[in-house]
Amino acid sequence: MQEEPIDPFNGDPADPSAGLDDPGEEAELDPLSEVERQDVLEDLADLEIYQALLGPVGVRGLVIECEDCREPHYFDWDLLRGNLRHLLNSGRPRVHEPAYDPDPDHYVTWEYARGYADGVHDTLTETADEDEGEREDGSTADR
Ligand SMILES: [Zn+2]
Repeated sequence: MQEEPIDPFNGDPADPSAGLDDPGEEAELDPLSEVERQDVLEDLADLEIYQALLGPVGVRGLVIECEDCREPHYFDWDLLRGNLRHLLNSGRPRVHEPAYDPDPDHYVTWEYARGYADGVHDTLTETADEDEGEREDGSTADR
């Protein structure tokens, strides 16, 4: 028998006082700004390139220095893609699900991946330039 007065809103999801003391709730509804969305989309595009270049040479993903934990977190490619998509959809990052028991040798930083991709791109561009140069030159007689 329940004789005590019961909170009329107890357990009611429509409780008007619910969430009043939770400032995090507001942020959850904040969508990404257009610029932030663009950044995430660029990261996703970069990720495709990095995985295509680095995956075949044995790199499984990226290592990211976590500002909260002050220690590196290892993310494999699929996890990174999932995290970025999650950020895109929800507007909130989901950084604390690193790969389980990763081997650090198989992970590189964003900076490394970017440098690697730039290096590959430069190599391709230089080769193309040289070919063009020879054609414009029209002459290999001096060699
Ligand atoms: Zn962390």
